[in-house]
Amino acid sequence: MHCPFCGTHDTKVTDSRLVAEGDQVRRRRQCVACGERFTTYETAELVMPRVIKGDGSREAFNEEKLRAGMLRALEKRPVSAEAIEAAVQRIRQALRARGEREIHARDIGEAVMAALRGLDQVAYIRFASVYRRFQDIDEFRAEIERLAQDPDQPASR
Ligand SMILES: [Zn+2]
Repeated sequence: MHCPFCGTHDTKVTDSRLVAEGDQVRRRRQCVACGERFTTYETAELVMPRVIKGDGSREAFNEEKLRAGMLRALEKRPVSAEAIEAAVQRIRQALRARGEREIHARDIGEAVMAALRGLDQVAYIRFASVYRRFQDIDEFRAEIERLAQDPDQPASR
């Protein structure tokens, strides 16, 4: 890689280590011509699947939208920003790990519900009530009762 100071082609790596929980490689480099040191970060470029919306149209996966939806459900709930961010990253990785080129928006919704369920049940109910559009109050009540009886089981589909 070119030296950013003098433009020489030849730079050597003096140190290399994994950072960001192994998702990144940090390299210290030194220019063999001018002796300047600099750092580079290397990250795998992974493409997220495209999202198939309810009406059949496609759009790019939008992590901001995912995060915003979760934050809305978690508003004023006792869940740390760190836990929310970890959940967002887990969802992103799980969606990518499917290896599909396209995924349905409802699969993202289901993944968010499962994540919220593990974080905070109030947030889960908030999100689920909007997302699933519970048909009537009985259905909503049934879901809450089911949660109360069996809080560790994943939500029914
Ligand atoms: Zn240089």
